[in-house]
Amino acid sequence: MALSGIQIYKMLPQTNCKECGFPTCLAFAMKLAAKQVELALCPYVSAESQAQLSEAAAPPVRPITLQSNGYQVQAGNEVALFRHEKRFFSQPGLFVRVYDSEAVAAIQEKVTAVAQYSVDYVGIHLKMGGIAVQADGGDFAGAVTAVRAVSHLPLILIGDPDALKAGLEKLDDGKLLLAHATTANWQEMAALAKTHKAALAVQAANIDEMVDLAVKVKGAGVDDIVLSPAQRTLHGALTANTTARRMALKKTFRDLGYPILSFPGDTADPDMEVILAAQAIGKYGSFIVLDHFSPESAYPLLVLRENIYTDPQKPIQVLPGLYEINNPTPDSPLLVTTNFSITYFSVANEVESAGLPAWLLVCDAEGMSVLTAWAAGKFDAERIAKDVKRFNAPDKVAGKQIVLPGHVAVLSGELEEELPDWRIRVGPREAVDLPAFIKQAL
Ligand code: SF4
Repeated sequence: MALSGIQIYKMLPQTNCKECGFPTCLAFAMKLAAKQVELALCPYVSAESQAQLSEAAAPPVRPITLQSNGYQVQAGNEVALFRHEKRFFSQPGLFVRVYDSEAVAAIQEKVTAVAQYSVDYVGIHLKMGGIAVQADGGDFAGAVTAVRAVSHLPLILIGDPDALKAGLEKLDDGKLLLAHATTANWQEMAALAKTHKAALAVQAANIDEMVDLAVKVKGAGVDDIVLSPAQRTLHGALTANTTARRMALKKTFRDLGYPILSFPGDTADPDMEVILAAQAIGKYGSFIVLDHFSPESAYPLLVLRENIYTDPQKPIQVLPGLYEINNPTPDSPLLVTTNFSITYFSVANEVESAGLPAWLLVCDAEGMSVLTAWAAGKFDAERIAKDVKRFNAPDKVAGKQIVLPGHVAVLSGELEEELPDWRIRVGPREAVDLPAFIKQAL
């Protein structure tokens, strides 16, 4: 049962020492009741109170990590229903499914492509999460062996208990997810999960049945449970996922406080599969199983995931500094921008791909884009001049030509005063126009 802030407060030391980062014990208690902080922030809670508070302090969505040979996919540990309330923490893992009815060569070709896929997005390496192996009347153990021969990504094994048993005998590494425990087989599946220390997905067509199964499986000794709603339509999957997560977060209903397994790949239409996967990324999917894999569909899904799971209060940043593009000489121009990642990569990519040598001064603007930083007073002539000197640009850029982003042309006069021996140029507003500007104007 969830404890109120006042109930939690009564179990805290009540000294208001502020070490937890809150002005009073009551303020900390209120945050704890709202699941927005960890109990561990207070070093003075007695062992007795700690035991009593464990229920209140336990994450409302159980953290579960699938892992294998250094690869891992973390799930759960979420505290917010909406990203803007705080942030989402555990990026869903994208799994690609193979079937044991497929030829070994086809399985390995698909798995290899998934395992090798890596794409750079604003300096972040995006990768797929793992492989799901589905029993489909073929040689399940053989399919598992074929997958493991070419990849050590985390696994989800899907099938009846006999098939899974055969597959599990071929594995001796990591923590995997077994699917599905149903009303018909949950005892056998729970026993398998316990023996192999695996997480277990429970599948049900409605929320009452899901709760009933989760309680039974937990009673059988499996703690790492994953919910797998049977709904496959956009509306059905959205409703099932949202209901489970809302109950877990808003009502602290522990029997639905688990990560969620989603199957966009169950649709026959590859386009709809991507749409369902995008919905699952946005709405509480933790492990997302796709049937089709291509860079064209993986990239937008991974970028979507990245954007939803970054902290909205902390822009993705690059380190301020003086960057070299295409081996610049002392006569190459000095371009200026801010340390918002997307801004940096837009400018750097345009100039680099045009083959033009340039220096790029990335100013510390607290991770904001050019216009936002200027409006917030974080990107002005004084700061640019300071960073020109801080990063020793005068020693490297003998030509002393500096290019301001067109959006902050208004700074050029002030910058002339700050850097009297530099020639200040106003560049284009958009990064895409930079190569033409450099070729024609500099
Ligand atoms: S650290 Fe503990 S005792 Fe100190 S103010 Fe926070 S909750 Fe109270």
